[in-house]
Amino acid sequence: MSGWETRFAEDVESLVDKMKRDGTRLPSYVPLHIAALYSGRRTVACASNLYERHAEVNCLRAIDPLKMKQHKPLRLLVSRVSGSHRMSRPCSACCVEIRRRLPRARVFYTDWGGVFREDKTLDNTHVCHMKSCVRAAPA
Ligand SMILES: [Zn+2]
Repeated sequence: MSGWETRFAEDVESLVDKMKRDGTRLPSYVPLHIAALYSGRRTVACASNLYERHAEVNCLRAIDPLKMKQHKPLRLLVSRVSGSHRMSRPCSACCVEIRRRLPRARVFYTDWGGVFREDKTLDNTHVCHMKSCVRAAPA
């Protein structure tokens, strides 16, 4: 496991702890996904899906521009952390948002078995059943 995967696992753990403390709950039929953005080794934002919005979109909304360094590599990691599998490739709407807001970021998602894969094309044709994912995207 590479350094940034370990870092992501730690960020996932602390976010899940925080959600427990805050009493943030998703309906049991909604799987939990978590997305985190890294500028170099620094965590810029880390967010889960929440109600109607995907983790990637919530992560984009949570970006603190002060933590973004122009000369550092940008990585967006997204993983499904509950349920029977780990598939968490960004849907078509999230791909559009990521390409628009973070054109230079490298994007990694966990596959069915939980192994990180790089999404080099961000052209997933999978359309999310939540139309609100698109509507709720930041302007
Ligand atoms: Zn999505």
